Amino acid sequence: MAVGTDNIDLVAATERGIPVGNTPGVLTETTADFTFALLMAAARRIVDGDNFVRSGHWKTWGPNVLLGRDLFGATLGIVGFGAIGQAVARRAQGFSMRVIYTRRSPVPPPQGVDAVPLSLDKLLQEADFVSLHVPLTDETRHMIGSRELAMMKETAILVNTARGGVIDQDALAAALRRGRPAMAALDVTAIEPINSQDELLTLPNVVITPHIASASVATRLRRANMAVDNLLAGLSGAPLPNCANPEVYQKR
Ligand code: NAP
Repeated sequence: MAVGTDNIDLVAATERGIPVGNTPGVLTETTADFTFALLMAAARRIVDGDNFVRSGHWKTWGPNVLLGRDLFGATLGIVGFGAIGQAVARRAQGFSMRVIYTRRSPVPPPQGVDAVPLSLDKLLQEADFVSLHVPLTDETRHMIGSRELAMMKETAILVNTARGGVIDQDALAAALRRGRPAMAALDVTAIEPINSQDELLTLPNVVITPHIASASVATRLRRANMAVDNLLAGLSGAPLPNCANPEVYQKR
C-alpha cells in the first residue's frame, strides 16, 4: 500500500514470478500538500510557537519573538521533479516563490509550471528551501551528504518527504548542529521509527513527523481500495491493475 518499492527486492520477486503491487498516482497531491505543511511549519516556526505557548513562555508581544522566514519571493529548489516534485512546484507558484529543480533527464517543466532546471550543486547554492522528491535508489542513497549540506545557504531549510536514506543522516545532524542549513523538516528518517536516542531528536532546529505525508483520510481509502483490487486480482491469477514489476508476466 505504497508508491515507493525500495523496501521490496523487486528483482528477486520477479525472478520468483511474484507480482508486486503498489499504489501510484493517488498519493501525489496529498504528499505535496504535506510537503508544504512541513515547509511552512519550519519556515514560520509553528512547532516552536506551539511549544512556546504550552510551556507558559508567552508573556507579552516581543519584536524578536519566534521570527521565521518568508516563503513569498524565496527560491524553492526541488530535487526530483516527478509527480510530487511538480505538484509541489504548482503550490509554490501560489506563494510567489521562484522554483528551480533538478532531475536526470532533460525534461522541461509541464505547461503552466514556471520552473528552471539546474544542476544539483547550483540548486543547493541558490535555494532558500530545498525539498527532496527522488525515489530511494542506489544512485540517490546519501545524495545529500556533508558536501551537499555545506553548499546550502546558512539560512536554508531542508525538507524531506521522499525517503530517509536520500540524506546521510549523521552528516545532517552534524550540519544542523553547526547551523548550516538552518533547519530541517523531515517526514522520513534513515531508520523508521527513528531511534529515541537519535541525535536529531536533541536538536532544536528540526521538525520530524512519523512518515505521514500521505496520511489523509481520503487518500488512505483510495490506497486501501487499490491494494485490495491488486490482492483480489493476484489471488485470482489475473494481472495486478497496479504492478511495480509488470515484466513478471512476460516470464509466465
Ligand atoms: P516520480 O514521479 O517517479 O518522480 C521521481 C523523480 O525523481 C523523477 O522526476 C526522476 O526524474 C527523479 N530522479 C530519480 N533519480 C534521480 C537522481 N539520481 N537525481 C535527480 N533526480 C532523480 O515519483 P513521485 O511519485 O514524485 O515520488 C517520489 C518519491 O516520494 C517516491 O519514490 C517515494 O519514495 C516518496 N514518497 C513518500 C511519501 C511519504 O509518505 N513521505 C509519499 C509518497 C511518495 P529522472 O528520471 O529524470 O531523474
